Amino acid sequence: MNVAFDEYLIAEQGGNCCGQDRFTVISCASCQGHYLFNEELNDLYYDPRDLRRRFFKIPGMNPPPCTYCGDIDWQFSDQQLNIVAIKTGPWGWLLDDSEIDFTRD
Ligand SMILES: [Zn+2]
Repeated sequence: MNVAFDEYLIAEQGGNCCGQDRFTVISCASCQGHYLFNEELNDLYYDPRDLRRRFFKIPGMNPPPCTYCGDIDWQFSDQQLNIVAIKTGPWGWLLDDSEIDFTRD
């Protein structure tokens, strides 16, 4: 799903923005732990408190083990997160609240 993130805040925290960013939150298929992912740049963010900790997620190149469950070959879950799950999760503070419409889901 499309959720609006505060790209100014992300950049300020050390994130990598290109202006065409498509941020989303994905979860680990093994443990459902949340990760921030920029679909435009294939940047996978590992640490909500340090956005400089990010890795390329492209076919043939595995990111480090899941920080939540330690799975060395973890995959993105097919399950889509809803906005409430994202908002209450570790990356929720990076959402642009002004663009969230809680009446839709
Ligand atoms: Zn995991």
